[in-house]
Amino acid sequence: MSKASQTRREFIKTNSLAAAGAMIAVGAPSTLLAGARIGKTAAPAILGGTPAWTKEKWPAWPRWNPETDEKQLLEVMRSGVWSRAGVVTEFEKAWASALGVKRSLAVVNGTNALVTAISQFKIQAGDEVLVPPYTFIATVSAVLSNGAMPVFVDIDPVTYQMDPAKIEAKITPRTKAIMPVHILGLPADMDKIMAIAKKHNLVVIEDACQAHLAEVNKQKVGTIGHAGCFSFQNSKNLPIGEGGAVVSNDDAFMDLCFSYTNFGNPYGSAVGAVGAGANMQGTKLRFSEYQAAIGLAQLKRLDAETTTRTENATYLKSQIKDIPGIVPYQLYDSVTRAAFHLFPFRYKQEAFKGLSRAAFLKALSAEGVPCSSGYTTLNTQPFIAETFSSKGYKSAYPKEMLDIKKYNELNKCPENDLLCSEAVWFTQNMLLGTKSDMDDIASAIQKIHKNAEQIKTLSKK
Ligand SMILES: *Cc1c(COP(=O)(O)O)cnc(C)c1O
Repeated sequence: MSKASQTRREFIKTNSLAAAGAMIAVGAPSTLLAGARIGKTAAPAILGGTPAWTKEKWPAWPRWNPETDEKQLLEVMRSGVWSRAGVVTEFEKAWASALGVKRSLAVVNGTNALVTAISQFKIQAGDEVLVPPYTFIATVSAVLSNGAMPVFVDIDPVTYQMDPAKIEAKITPRTKAIMPVHILGLPADMDKIMAIAKKHNLVVIEDACQAHLAEVNKQKVGTIGHAGCFSFQNSKNLPIGEGGAVVSNDDAFMDLCFSYTNFGNPYGSAVGAVGAGANMQGTKLRFSEYQAAIGLAQLKRLDAETTTRTENATYLKSQIKDIPGIVPYQLYDSVTRAAFHLFPFRYKQEAFKGLSRAAFLKALSAEGVPCSSGYTTLNTQPFIAETFSSKGYKSAYPKEMLDIKKYNELNKCPENDLLCSEAVWFTQNMLLGTKSDMDDIASAIQKIHKNAEQIKTLSKK
């Protein structure tokens, strides 16, 4: 066979063998030789065996259909109408209809969708907002940029979502809103959260930035609370590069949001006559026509892709759940669809002969399976203390509320700390692969489990 026709699979095999040879040559410990003797398929790739996954590429992200999508985008370009106009309105209508919600407002990104929603519920300096710690930083920075105080509610260790059982203890006279985040695309326990919000007269703003088309009791997340926020950033399940949306069934609120993102200019019931001047403080967060064109194209595939991710995630979970030390996510009984922006599980190193998570991730990557450790603890990051030292915060809150030691004490989240130290993630594009890709992921983990002692010995050297 010519060198040119050599496939990547064979290339990896050849080079893995070479690597194994090299290790033996430098005098690897006898445990490694034993590993090599069991054959290159059974040996972990990090010790010179053949990787469990040897295909060319994981499904690329984002993806598009050149024939249809590029035409749609070029049409906008050639029209010369690039600022907000008809295509943005069409995208907003399509997104609202996909979710089964009355209104959708497209904005520059998910972070500013959250900022807009918080500000138009008039949540401001002196108010408290309940947030989970297991989330992307934007959830919390959106609260802080409105001058409000984030109060962390620890997670449910089994679902990784804000734990409803821990909410009421965190409610004070300052509390105005609960911001559940459907983190990783797995829905929060909305039945319980809505009941608590109703009892205490709190606004619920869903951060659904990772949860496009996920459902609780057949209702799309983002449409269950008073408002929902989405992100269309490039990595998200509906990618536009950048983009976001606020959705709600509340017309008056949505009019205010529109007005806010357009310099406070009048819109709908957000009072005043057009041309008479802005009558509320606003900013500019408008979406553009070519972004909307990409969004419309992406939206056509979202439902089918969500189904594929669900099928692969469900199958992968069934294949790895019995490996000792691998504890996959669980969904609440009320969840009728998850979005699987990520596939998470806990890695218990005790069951892997004490092999650290970092070493496990390295060994898994060597098997051809991309993986990461996910979020670090958000509630202790320095940006919170930095915000508390601002003039605005100092004038809005009593001194002791800004004492960072006291704040950290009150906002301890031990369940989240543990999850951050144990989590392993696969990204959503991997779940667009085949059943055989999922089998390869499972065998890679099996292989590492079987050879954990050897891998640990090697990685210590
Ligand atoms: C991505 C994300 C955001 C912010 O969205 P951007 O479009 O990146 O600004 C907010 N919250 C969560 C949970 C996210 O994953």
